[in-house]
Amino acid sequence: MHGSFRVGIGYDIHPLVEGRPLVLGGVRIPHGTGLAGHSDADALIHALCDALLGALNLGDLGEHFPETPEWKGAASTKILGAVAGMVERAGYALVNADCVVNAEEPRLAPHRAAMARTIAAALGVYAEYISIKATRGEGLGPVGEKRAIAVEAIVLLEKVG
Ligand code: MG
Repeated sequence: MHGSFRVGIGYDIHPLVEGRPLVLGGVRIPHGTGLAGHSDADALIHALCDALLGALNLGDLGEHFPETPEWKGAASTKILGAVAGMVERAGYALVNADCVVNAEEPRLAPHRAAMARTIAAALGVYAEYISIKATRGEGLGPVGEKRAIAVEAIVLLEKVG
C-alpha cells in the first residue's frame, strides 16, 4: 500500500430507543434510551472503524462485519480489535484519531476519558492518541430531537517498519 501517511473518514448514526443500554466508545453510559442496531450499536466505534478501513482502502464496516448471527449483540470493542489487526497487518500504526459525537443528551464530557481509554486499549495505543469531542443538535433534526446519535471520525495512519 502506498503512502507514508494515510487518512480516513468515518460516519455512523443509530436511533435512540427505549429498552436498550447506551454504549458509546465501549463505555456503558447511564441514560433512559440506548442505541438500536444489530451489534451493541456503538456509533462512535463504528465511525472510527470505518475511518480506519477507509485509510486502508479496505471497504466499509458492513462488508467485514455483516448483520449475521455472529455479530448480533456483539461488543463493538471486539470489532475495533479486529480492525486494529487489519491496520497492523497492512503495516500501519495510528498517529491520531479525532471524533465528533453529535448527541443532544446525555452530557458526554464526564465519560470522555473512559471512552478514550477503552478505545485506545482495543487499538493497542495510548489514550492521548484518541480525541473525542461532543456537540449538540440544538433541537434540529433527529439528533436535536433526541431520536438518534451520530458520529464523525477521522484518523491518520503512519507506515511503520
Ligand atoms: Mg453502526
